[in-house]
Amino acid sequence: MSTIAAHLDDVLSRIANATAQAGRPTGSVHLLAVSKTFGPDAVREAAAAGQRAFGENYVQESLEKMAVLARETVDGEPLEWHFIGPLQSNKTRPVAEHFAWVHSVDRLKIAERLSAQRPAGMPALQVCLQVNISGEASKSGVPPEDVPAVARAIAALPNLRLRGLMAIPEPQTDPARQRAPFRAVRELFDALRADGLALDTLSMGMSGDLEAAIAEGATMVRIGTAIFGARDYGPRA
Ligand SMILES: *Cc1c(COP(=O)(O)O)cnc(C)c1O
Repeated sequence: MSTIAAHLDDVLSRIANATAQAGRPTGSVHLLAVSKTFGPDAVREAAAAGQRAFGENYVQESLEKMAVLARETVDGEPLEWHFIGPLQSNKTRPVAEHFAWVHSVDRLKIAERLSAQRPAGMPALQVCLQVNISGEASKSGVPPEDVPAVARAIAALPNLRLRGLMAIPEPQTDPARQRAPFRAVRELFDALRADGLALDTLSMGMSGDLEAAIAEGATMVRIGTAIFGARDYGPRA
C-alpha cells in the first residue's frame, strides 16, 4: 500500500471512530482530501485508493492539476473539485467554470459573480458560506450576526445551490477548547434550517481537529496534512 493510501485509511478510521463516538450514522461525514501544493501524482495515488473529492486553494495551481487529471476516474466518475481558499473577485470566473463546489464564499458579491459566471448547461455550483467564527481581523468569513441575511440572499441566486456553512476556527491543540467554535457554527446552521433554508453541509474540521468538528456535527472534513504530509509552500510563501 502506498503511503498516501495508508494515510487515507488512517483518516477514514479516525472519521469512522469519531462518527460512532458521537452517536451519528455511519457514512454521515464525508472526506474532502486537500491536495493544495501537491502534484497530480499525489492526487492519482489518493484516487487509486478510492478518494474522489479534492480541495484546492489556489486557482492557477488547481487549473493545471485538473487539466492533467481530466480523465482520472473513481468508480467510473470524474474527480470532484472543491475550491476552499480565499477568493478574490477577479478570480471568480475560472472557479465558476471548473469547480463543483466553493466552500469559501465570504461575501454576497463573490456569490453573485459566481452565479453570473457559472456556464449554462453545467449543474448549479454547490456553495458554502464561510463564517468568521474566531473573530480575528485576518481571517475571512462573514461575521455570525450577518450570516442569516447573506445566506438568504445567496440561496436566491439562480446558478448556485447553498449547501451550508464552512468555518476555520483559530487552531487549538487542546481538544476541550476545539469544540466551542464548531458548536457555535452548528448552532447558526441549525437556526438557518429552522428558518426554512434547505442546508445539509457543515464543512469544518482539519487534520488537527476533525474529532472535535465531528462531535459538533461536521458533515464534511477537509484534510490535507494527515493524508499527503507536510506542505512545502516553496517560493509562494
Ligand atoms: C489547507 C486547508 C485545509 C487542510 O488543512 P490540514 O491541517 O492540512 O488538514 C483545510 N481547509 C482549508 C480551508 C485549508 O486551506
